[in-house]
Amino acid sequence: MTEYTPKERLYRALRKQPVDRMPAVCFTQTATVEQMEACGAYWPEAHEDAEKMATLAEAGHTVIGLEAVRVPFDITAEAELFGCGIKAGDLKQQPSVIKHVVKNLEDLEKIKDYNLNEGRIGKILEAVKILSEKYGKELPILGSMIGPFSLAQHLNGDAWFGNLFTGEEVVPALLDFCADFNVAYAKAMVENGMDTLAIIDPTASYELIGGEFYEKYALPYQKRIVDAMKELNVATVLHICGNTTNGLAIMDKTGVNGISVDQRVDIATAIGNVENAIIIGNLDPVAVLWNGTPEEVEVAAKKVLDAGVGLLSPGCGIVSMTPTANLQKMVECTINHKY
Ligand SMILES: [Zn+2]
Repeated sequence: MTEYTPKERLYRALRKQPVDRMPAVCFTQTATVEQMEACGAYWPEAHEDAEKMATLAEAGHTVIGLEAVRVPFDITAEAELFGCGIKAGDLKQQPSVIKHVVKNLEDLEKIKDYNLNEGRIGKILEAVKILSEKYGKELPILGSMIGPFSLAQHLNGDAWFGNLFTGEEVVPALLDFCADFNVAYAKAMVENGMDTLAIIDPTASYELIGGEFYEKYALPYQKRIVDAMKELNVATVLHICGNTTNGLAIMDKTGVNGISVDQRVDIATAIGNVENAIIIGNLDPVAVLWNGTPEEVEVAAKKVLDAGVGLLSPGCGIVSMTPTANLQKMVECTINHKY
């Protein structure tokens, strides 16, 4: 069979077209301390400096062997753009959102006038461009962003889940705003050379909100991003944390090309629960990839591959202390896998 470039291979695999072999790609965060040491671009600077961000993303390819480059490494730049308080990360920890800005519709009005070129969002867009100019012909350029449900939660804070249950008017208004922001941001990424989008919506999990709320508060907003990307021929992958087994059929209705599942999901069951999307996952990022040995990675990878996974990948973001040898083994298992 024809040998594809990594870019063509992922393009085809995500669209269920025949490929020569499985692409070795990670849709969740890829950076580790060992990669930082190898390339000289470190957290936390690599979260806010476009050149360093691109350099560290590149290490996923040059050091680990991943067949794509992906930015950014966290999911707080979006909330930061809208004025949320951020606890800075360090060498090993990602930044986190600690102060929220939207309690009501009035607060929402105040953040509606935003500029995508400002703050870290602007830097991420720059990094996408740097990577695309260097690798765009050969490698998939993956952009990732927080999904509308989790972004609304970041903006609204601790009241979010309570507000869902009491049906506060700020909930649909905020989700609508977040989804439109996601679409505008994703389109800007495409303009800068992104060809595949990972939507990371960790808390829109069946485990937390159940199917009825997912259908009402997550599905239509995630679908808006997917639809906009389809018009631009950009593939989408949706990652949601936790045990999403019983929510997969509804997640599939977003029309995403791939659904990235957590290590708590049984792959064979997951495949049976979807009609359209391919299932991506789900090596345990802590027990196997971080704390395991390459031999243990191999055993776990074989299990996931034998279950028929569409693309072998970590079940969530890679832990920063993960050894390079384990990630290289994951890549090796993917590349050597015979369909
Ligand atoms: Zn996750």
